[in-house]
Amino acid sequence: MANPVVAIVGRPNVGKSTIFNRLAGERISIVEDTPGVTRDRIYARTEWLGHPFNLIDTGGIDIGDEPFLTQITEQAEIAIEEADVIIFVVSVKEGVTDADEKVARILYRTDKPVVLAVNKVDNPELRADIYDFYSLGFGEPIPVAGTHGIGTGDLLDKIIKEFPKDATNEEDDSIKFSFIGRPNVGKSSLVNAILGENRVIVSNIEGTTRDAIDTRFETEDGTKYTMIDTAGIRKKGKVYENTEKYSVLRAMRAIDRSDVVCVVLNAEEGIREQDKHVAGYAHEAGRAIVIVVNKWDTLKKDNKTMSDFENLIRQEFQYLSYAPIVFVSAKTKQRLDKLPELIKRVNDNHEQRISSAILNDVVMDVIAHNPTPTDNGKRLRIYYATQVAIKPPTFVIFVNDPELMHFSYERFLENQIREAFDFEGTPIHIIERRRK
Ligand code: GDP
Ligand code: GDP
Repeated sequence: MANPVVAIVGRPNVGKSTIFNRLAGERISIVEDTPGVTRDRIYARTEWLGHPFNLIDTGGIDIGDEPFLTQITEQAEIAIEEADVIIFVVSVKEGVTDADEKVARILYRTDKPVVLAVNKVDNPELRADIYDFYSLGFGEPIPVAGTHGIGTGDLLDKIIKEFPKDATNEEDDSIKFSFIGRPNVGKSSLVNAILGENRVIVSNIEGTTRDAIDTRFETEDGTKYTMIDTAGIRKKGKVYENTEKYSVLRAMRAIDRSDVVCVVLNAEEGIREQDKHVAGYAHEAGRAIVIVVNKWDTLKKDNKTMSDFENLIRQEFQYLSYAPIVFVSAKTKQRLDKLPELIKRVNDNHEQRISSAILNDVVMDVIAHNPTPTDNGKRLRIYYATQVAIKPPTFVIFVNDPELMHFSYERFLENQIREAFDFEGTPIHIIERRRK
């Protein structure tokens, strides 16, 4: 289920961000914004010819006040660590520079495939100049022009050929989940507390380096879980691991690999803007979600504290209205034993299949009692509904004209479907199709 990861590296100004935007196209699913940083998107889910993959612009990972060469070194190291395939970008305008050679030397250390893209080849005459870049030692350079979109198709063709072949095809029926949240909300404390209460399974599956910190455990009822660790939790050390952008990136990677995402909030500090970014990403990625309010022990409580907090969350995270909320303490272990059960429940809902017969009974009943919308005297007709996918549950509704489906009616239908079936904790998608 984990999509291949492609990382873009290279010295500043060669055009990494331009190429990133080009390759990500309109399919960007999240805008990650940190004030004061020139680039706001460094991570995107995209696809080429039916091959989905995730794209990282390492140039957007700002490593604080480090000197220039340290910055590009660390960005290249991040690429090696995170990616399955690396795009090494250079510029035909300046030719091979010392900084390019520095990046190359770091990339020699990995046996991951490196595709060399020579950017700014704006016209055919410049093509003759790309051969100088053979000296970098990464084989045939591919000429591209990020600003015009020239050559990106060839680049993408080459990249998808390098994708690992079914590397993730391990027999694994465990529920994959992660704790996501700002620094200090208590993610690593939760990880340790949960592992302390359950039987950890020593895995002999050889993972890739970046997956090696996943932990599997089993609860008393025999359910198996894989806890996907976000970097910075148990692997602190390298300079770049403490940078904000890198931790957001790791969080997004963890979300991509999870079935269930536990969005951790800090009861002591309340809700911050930053809490919403990764939660929004998890939602858009279609993952099942549990909202975990940690440090519940720190509050002086009365009989309204919990419902007040809950109301606040519902207000601030309106798009997560389906996500259950649990108030816990990693310190006192309050309600922590409930968490695996809850994760299992939302995971079951996330992979739930509803038979077409039962689904249509519900949908037909809804439209019989609630007239479908009209536009210019034309009424929406709904003929048939069927579930086409799980994780998240996705329904196709065959209609006379998809344009007639009103946002509010679709929302209403979703709510009715949610009322008829238990989809707590999972987003559901509804797609209208014209019946031929
Ligand atoms: P980064 O620092 O490597 O991410 O580089 P940017 O993507 O920010 O691009 C640096 C500069 O190169 C910008 O002024 C871009 O407009 C320019 N640039 C990017 N791609 C091309 C290209 O294909 N041709 C030309 N002529 N300029 C480009
Ligand atoms: P992370 O950065 O999200 O992984 O957060 P940590 O797990 O490192 O926790 C940050 C701080 O909060 C540490 O000092 C923990 O001891 C403390 N902490 C974590 N969970 C709780 C809790 O449930 N209650 C209290 N009072 N402190 C907690």
